[in-house]
Amino acid sequence: MGDSLVAKAAESSCHGGQETMRAAARAAGKSELLERLAKDYPQGPHDQPQSMCPAFGSLRVGLRMRRVATILSGSACCVYGLTFTSHFYGARRSVGYVPFDSETLVTGQLYEDIVKAVRQTARPDDYDAVVIINLCVPTASGVPLDLLPKEIDGVRIIGIDVPGFGVPTHAEAKDVLAGAMLKYARAEAERGAVARPRGALAEGKKISLIGELFPADPPGIAALLAPMGLALAPGLPAREWRDLYGALDCTAAAAVHPFYTATIREFAAAGRPIVGSAPVGVDGTADWLEAVGRAADMPAAAVDAAKAKALPAIQAVLDSSRLSARMVVSGYEGSELLVARLLMEAGAQIPYVGTALPRTPWSEADCDWLEARGTHVQYRASLEQDVNAMREVKPDLALGTTPLVQAAKEQSIPAVYFTNMVSARPLFGAAGAGALPAIVAAQTAGRERFSRMVAFFGDATC
Ligand code: SF4
Repeated sequence: MGDSLVAKAAESSCHGGQETMRAAARAAGKSELLERLAKDYPQGPHDQPQSMCPAFGSLRVGLRMRRVATILSGSACCVYGLTFTSHFYGARRSVGYVPFDSETLVTGQLYEDIVKAVRQTARPDDYDAVVIINLCVPTASGVPLDLLPKEIDGVRIIGIDVPGFGVPTHAEAKDVLAGAMLKYARAEAERGAVARPRGALAEGKKISLIGELFPADPPGIAALLAPMGLALAPGLPAREWRDLYGALDCTAAAAVHPFYTATIREFAAAGRPIVGSAPVGVDGTADWLEAVGRAADMPAAAVDAAKAKALPAIQAVLDSSRLSARMVVSGYEGSELLVARLLMEAGAQIPYVGTALPRTPWSEADCDWLEARGTHVQYRASLEQDVNAMREVKPDLALGTTPLVQAAKEQSIPAVYFTNMVSARPLFGAAGAGALPAIVAAQTAGRERFSRMVAFFGDATC
């Protein structure tokens, strides 16, 4: 690539110069990568991350795995932000970093430095895999992670490009790494025997859940499946390399979070059927149990037994926690449609749901369910669309991202952060039916007090 393009790319960031980055990446031989990313993660009305750096999603997936080292290759300011965020979220793990300057970038020395770092890190006593993540500038500069050795002393080497100008959200960046690892593990499993997942393995047919879930949710979903005679396989993103083999060994995969396009592609390539939506509320749980039963080829009586056990319990919880709030829901986690379904079954009116994630077949049933009840579902929603919807709806409570919550508070609309609320609570089955409506009820109860406080302070500023 021409030195001037490299220099321009090095000066660009997510706050400007995305087209320069893309042009540089194409000139550096990354056209195929950009096309794949555009296909897997199609962009919508906004192509600019309006949340944290997308690469955080990949970094988080790597840092959460046992015996996996994660190394970043990117501008120092990006790496500072990413390591800060990862430790803010309690990573308690080291993040590797290969620094560069314009000379090492232009001469190709950066790639040699990455090779050296990977070789030094790939210690089989410590690691099953080393992940190296190209951020924006090294991707735009064509640093060829695909040329890295695939394995060093038995340690797998996974190189991925996660540029902000190709991967729109941190949620989809989780899929970039989860999908790359599953692809690698699938190839290993196809070549011969692989390590057995740790702990007792469930017998019989198993379902693998796709998505980063609240810790109480997988056991809750296992309880929903048990009357059908199904158990859980390890889920994705995995917590350990050998769990990838266990996940691939499932009977069907459930795309509980619907945006894991690369991961789903690997399950499909392994011949595993994919089930969309998730067990939220009564309708969602009934439909999901039926879909899982079909995918796993279970007898109708087994599906009926699972429904008979789960649905009355969920209905009872919903009946005891009725809501009358009018709400808007938006976020970038990918579970926004599921959350809205559950809250609407609990009695909330939700005219608008915005998600930063794209439309995929795996959220189609949720979108249909919401639209049939008059909800406008906005995929790839921008902050501006979310704020405009909130102004129009004038909700009792806004559930959204940090900037939406800020805009809501300026209008004295009670608001809670989607991420904090949803990821810190169960969402599925009877546990979810109890947890989410409870927090909505508590937050809307404070509206009158909130209005008094805003009226008291008026336009005063500090
Ligand atoms: S790596 Fe992340 S923080 Fe850095 S320029 Fe790209 S999107 Fe922005």
